[in-house]
Amino acid sequence: MEEKIKCPECGTILENGQLECNNCDYKLRNYKSIAILGYVLSFLFPLAGIFIGFYLHSKYNKNGKIILVISLIMLLIFLIIPWASDINLSYYYYYS
Ligand SMILES: [Zn+2]
Repeated sequence: MEEKIKCPECGTILENGQLECNNCDYKLRNYKSIAILGYVLSFLFPLAGIFIGFYLHSKYNKNGKIILVISLIMLLIFLIIPWASDINLSYYYYYS
């Protein structure tokens, strides 16, 4: 299925992969640096990644959804790591 996106400025339907709106010359690649920042932040600071993901998603940028998913996975991992190390610690005390 081909993904179609809407121009955030004028609402014209743009073909997948199209970087410029042929109606109002809106440039989607303006968000490329924000998307890169979003990918980096999603790994280091998932909460900031979620924020950028929502922002890009609201701008019809397909990276938004991916950044949101990565951020949520990383957030889960960050929540699980302290919990998992607690479990290991209690096992350690149990067997010693
Ligand atoms: Zn447009």
